[in-house]
Amino acid sequence: MKKLILLIVVAIFFAQLQPLTASAYQQATDNSYSKTALLGDKEILALGAEINGLIAKDTVTELARFHRVQASTGFLSAAEYIAAKAKEYGLEQVKIEHLVADGEKMYHTLKSTPGWDADSAVLWEVAPRKTKIADYEEMRVALADYSQSAEVTAALVDVGNGTAASDYEGKEVKGKIVLAGGNVAAAHKLACEERGAVGVLSYQQNQVTGWSGDYVDNVRWGHLSPYNADNKFAFMISLRRAREFKERLGRGEAITLQAKVKAEIKPGNYDVVTAVIRGTDAADEEIVFSCHLCHQKPGANDNASGAAAILEVARALNTLIKRGDIERPRRSIRFIWPPEINGTLAYFAEHPEIVKRMKAAVHCDMVGGNFAITKAVLHVTHTPASLPSAVNIVGDIFAEYAIAGSLKAATGADFTDALISAEGSKDHLVADITPFEMGSDHDVYQEGSFRIPTIYLRDWPDVFIHTNNDKPENIDATKMKRSTFIAAASGYFLAKAGAREASKLADEAFVRAMAQLPKDRARAASIEASGGETAVEESRNIIARSLERDAEILASAMSYAPNDKNLENKIDGMIEQLSGAWLLLTGQISEQKKGNRVLFTIEAKEPPKEAKDKAKPRNPKDASRLRVGGSDASRIPTRKIKGPMNVYYYDYVAAHASAEDLRVVERLAAKPKGDILLYEILNLVDGKRSIQAIRDYLTAAYGTISVEEVGDYLRLLDKIGAVKIEG
Ligand SMILES: [Zn+2]
Repeated sequence: MKKLILLIVVAIFFAQLQPLTASAYQQATDNSYSKTALLGDKEILALGAEINGLIAKDTVTELARFHRVQASTGFLSAAEYIAAKAKEYGLEQVKIEHLVADGEKMYHTLKSTPGWDADSAVLWEVAPRKTKIADYEEMRVALADYSQSAEVTAALVDVGNGTAASDYEGKEVKGKIVLAGGNVAAAHKLACEERGAVGVLSYQQNQVTGWSGDYVDNVRWGHLSPYNADNKFAFMISLRRAREFKERLGRGEAITLQAKVKAEIKPGNYDVVTAVIRGTDAADEEIVFSCHLCHQKPGANDNASGAAAILEVARALNTLIKRGDIERPRRSIRFIWPPEINGTLAYFAEHPEIVKRMKAAVHCDMVGGNFAITKAVLHVTHTPASLPSAVNIVGDIFAEYAIAGSLKAATGADFTDALISAEGSKDHLVADITPFEMGSDHDVYQEGSFRIPTIYLRDWPDVFIHTNNDKPENIDATKMKRSTFIAAASGYFLAKAGAREASKLADEAFVRAMAQLPKDRARAASIEASGGETAVEESRNIIARSLERDAEILASAMSYAPNDKNLENKIDGMIEQLSGAWLLLTGQISEQKKGNRVLFTIEAKEPPKEAKDKAKPRNPKDASRLRVGGSDASRIPTRKIKGPMNVYYYDYVAAHASAEDLRVVERLAAKPKGDILLYEILNLVDGKRSIQAIRDYLTAAYGTISVEEVGDYLRLLDKIGAVKIEG
């Protein structure tokens, strides 16, 4: 029986395939593509030979000399270093733009942060001991960003985390310096702004990882609110140092500190470095290499490594093109070194004409951590579900090559595809391919206002991230070479792609979609088998969204050769094959038009009565809630403003909504992947999808969310003018 079904599947599958054209056959048998499916072996070998892990690591070392706080002189020095190198490497249109960052100017949904600079900051214990505790000259992260000038001698008080009112019960902190372990900006607000303390001594810990608490000498890079002109100061110390103070204070010892700070919040600029490699016949389209140049000194892995990686991409590609080892790509390639997220959004706001030209991006944020030291796993990260794209497959393919080549070397002493730097490790590349995660400039590129699909390379964790210990010596030149290779090959392929490359990409997209299909089928089947009230329609939703996603991924390959009729026919054929596969697996399908393309959707065997009412809320309580804001599940939201709602230190929703209304956000944020859900709800607002359709899309992509949760958040966005709910 099983065998018979398989035969039918295979027979129908081949019967429906388009006849192979001569050129397609040639592509299929071209053995110069034995290393990867997307670039020829000659190109792969040329990239592997030219990309230099040591140059990239040396750039990290250079950048790590600068305290690269956004809109500070340290950042500008780093920007000047990058611009000089880009010029030296022969890139075109190299420039540094200085975009106003004054704490007032708006860039889409971002209220710019002001600039900040520190001249000096020293903290002494003056009694009972005479000891220097922290010195900005010796360690830049000793002083939290946005601290301001002060000269005080004051008693030290332990306030625990210092981030809740209860931490201050029975304690007098007015005129004193508080020792606090929680978020330093929150502790400053409660202690200094609300209770009159003169400063904070913080041992705020790092982001949570499996190694949290193990590295007691990390000093975290902290920051106060950039928007508060009345900031006092915060010094940052290690957990080890803090434990000594806590122990002494706990014994009743009186400790007096003396702080001398010269620092100031003032109008500044987001300095954004850009450079270009010109394309040929599609030069008006651009592929972008992105990173963020900011962060604390040393900030080696985060993110001198990403900045250095794309600089090395620029050097290697330009060198290979000029030497004629690889052909000049059809599209132009733009390199951007901004302050994280803020600089990218400001650049987008100032250059809408450039944003329109961007077809795809490769974003490098932490790409050099030596696994043995930092525990960093390199994640090649996909686009958000709202933006299905074949770009993901491009990143996957070059990552798979680098991982496999490194394993072959580490386990079998075959170094042909090892991508090893002479001064780096010979270890296996610890890397994987992962679904979308948030947290850097790629959030801007892929936001619903811009929709630029982005391959995101990121190390996570790094036990030293955002601390004094994120040092150049933790960077592995081999890891730099491999990450840079994955980025360079991906971006170069996308810049080069014409009909032939798009066809190869579609082939890869098709086989990967076919491989995914049984997994989605199993998920749909298990939902249907659960027998809940809405099980049948939820199951159908999984299938319909799966097919829609794969059709969109295949269609995205088409955008690299938009006028190629053969490719269009082939992609249409592939989508039909996918529909046919669903038919075989599930029974019934019905035809549905999407643009000029026919898509098939699954019909339930017995359409449940409630199916036609599915756009309506299911119980009277929900119905009343949905009507409150004058909206219901079938209404269609439209976007009114551009940009993500949460931009680095600035939260557009929080700045415009009441505390009461923000509970909607808090509830959603508390869900698994809450940050992604908040981002994606807005991304899916396109003036066509109803609230119900957005809910269905999210449920298929991220797990169950209710139409009420989606509707509540969209109504809040409507209230603050970010969207308008029509219909
Ligand atoms: Zn980063």
